[in-house]
Amino acid sequence: MFVPRSLKVKRNADDDLSCTAKIKKLSSGEPSLVEATDLRDVKPTIKDASASGCNLYKAVQECTELQTFPDSDFPFADESLGSDNQNVDEDSSSVEPIKSFSKSQRWAEPGEPICVVCGRYGEYICDKTDEDVCSLECKAKHLLQAQEKEGLNSDSLVKVESKPETLLPVTLYTYKEHSFILSLQDDQIKNLKLQLGIVVQGKGVTRPIIEFEHCGFPETLNYNLKNSGYEVPTPIQMQMIPVGLLGRDIVASADTGSGKTAAFLLPVIIKALEETKTPSALILTPTRELAIQIERQAKELMIGLPNMRTVLLVGGLPLPPQLHRLKQTVKVIIATPGRLLDILKQSAVQLHDIKIVVVDEDKKLFKPPVLVFVDCKLGADLLSDAVHKITGLQCISMHSDKSQSERTNILQGLFQEKYEVVVSTGVLGRGLDLVNVKLVVNFDMPSSMDEYVHQVGRAGRLGHSGTAITFINNNSKKLFWDVVKRVKPTGTILPPQLLNSPYLHDQKRKEQQKVKQSQNSLVTGDNLMDIIRKHDKSNSQK
Ligand code: AMP
Repeated sequence: MFVPRSLKVKRNADDDLSCTAKIKKLSSGEPSLVEATDLRDVKPTIKDASASGCNLYKAVQECTELQTFPDSDFPFADESLGSDNQNVDEDSSSVEPIKSFSKSQRWAEPGEPICVVCGRYGEYICDKTDEDVCSLECKAKHLLQAQEKEGLNSDSLVKVESKPETLLPVTLYTYKEHSFILSLQDDQIKNLKLQLGIVVQGKGVTRPIIEFEHCGFPETLNYNLKNSGYEVPTPIQMQMIPVGLLGRDIVASADTGSGKTAAFLLPVIIKALEETKTPSALILTPTRELAIQIERQAKELMIGLPNMRTVLLVGGLPLPPQLHRLKQTVKVIIATPGRLLDILKQSAVQLHDIKIVVVDEDKKLFKPPVLVFVDCKLGADLLSDAVHKITGLQCISMHSDKSQSERTNILQGLFQEKYEVVVSTGVLGRGLDLVNVKLVVNFDMPSSMDEYVHQVGRAGRLGHSGTAITFINNNSKKLFWDVVKRVKPTGTILPPQLLNSPYLHDQKRKEQQKVKQSQNSLVTGDNLMDIIRKHDKSNSQK
């Protein structure tokens, strides 16, 4: 598709005669343009166009689909076919036509999408390749280049033709257990799960599939699966896909490389296909690399499926092109949390209608920040800088010299997982419920046990387990015995240097003496006479 889909919704079919299939044939030898502007009216047809002088000649169901042309002499596009996607929210009367020629497109402003062919403003997206293009002319060139790149020749037309027709309109999909799966005995299913290491919890969990065919997917999707080399489902896919197709909430866990991505993508694709509202699915993932990988896989599986478009919302890449794309009626968002929040703050994009949400957990997504305690502000700044420089981790220091707004930002960043390490003085030690801190490092041992207990208590809140690593040296020697008493009962292995420290033994001895003394000062039947005698003796000495 070439025109933002929302335009078709906004545009009144009555006042737009172009909303019917049009096939303009140019004079012999000239390239042909096939335009189809209303998906309901046009049946997909693919013809070998060699006889008509063009490489590929195809009417598709979507708006203004354009195929390859032999040279840059591009046929005239009907200027009324589409609209400038910048105006998607405006009245249809004000929408601009799609630019036919590269030369009528303006140059891109910094941060704007750039046409992959001519470098002008990449106002549109080529649905086939998902690349930004500026005009119909550049789209045609781009498609031609893409085909050349893939080494497509006339043989490949046969290949294209052999591809199953896209189902349009998409018939409502309902997952039904395949007759083969139904025919299996409970014991056989149990055995299968055992063999494949499939463990399930929850009520009425459907049986796993054994082949992708058991899902009853649309032919296009089956074709894409085969094309991507997915011959048989992996165990996580066997169990997760049917459960996902039934629309149940799932928490799934499997090793890296076990096919989890396709396990959640396939139900997402099927569900998103049926959804008319856009965007309809959100996939949240911890890192940009993972998001890119997921999008690539999603696109591979979505080829030829109608009205499916993805957007990648990730940090580290310019934001305007992502926002631009998001506004073009995308079905599936693949995002990292930080960039998604930035985009939501900056734009009026609503995510209320999203019914399908996948959190591709990866350990990093919920990777809790490390909280490091030091004993002075300068120490916090220096250590934070040093950790960042050496490890590349996102670090920030926190202390009483930070303004209120800085503190708020740091805390927000902490919850949004913007920071991986926070180096703080005692200011973060108390009161704050950093639920997601898993690791506390007492780089400098605090001066009192009370403070120490609060600091280590930042890890493992609300019944979660956590870890504290405490650096201890002779500066806090007066606390040695107290630390040991407090920490030993938790089963922690303490360093021999601490356990053998003379300070510790001294403190221990003194404490035991004190206990003895206090025990001695207690009056019991046994020591009563001793106490009286002692008392008399001291009085007579006076
Ligand atoms: P993942 O665990 O999702 O990262 O997948 C690891 C790799 O396995 C990816 O390259 C997938 O494309 C591939 N893959 C996933 N499912 C299958 C399958 N059923 N058959 C063959 N390859 C697969």
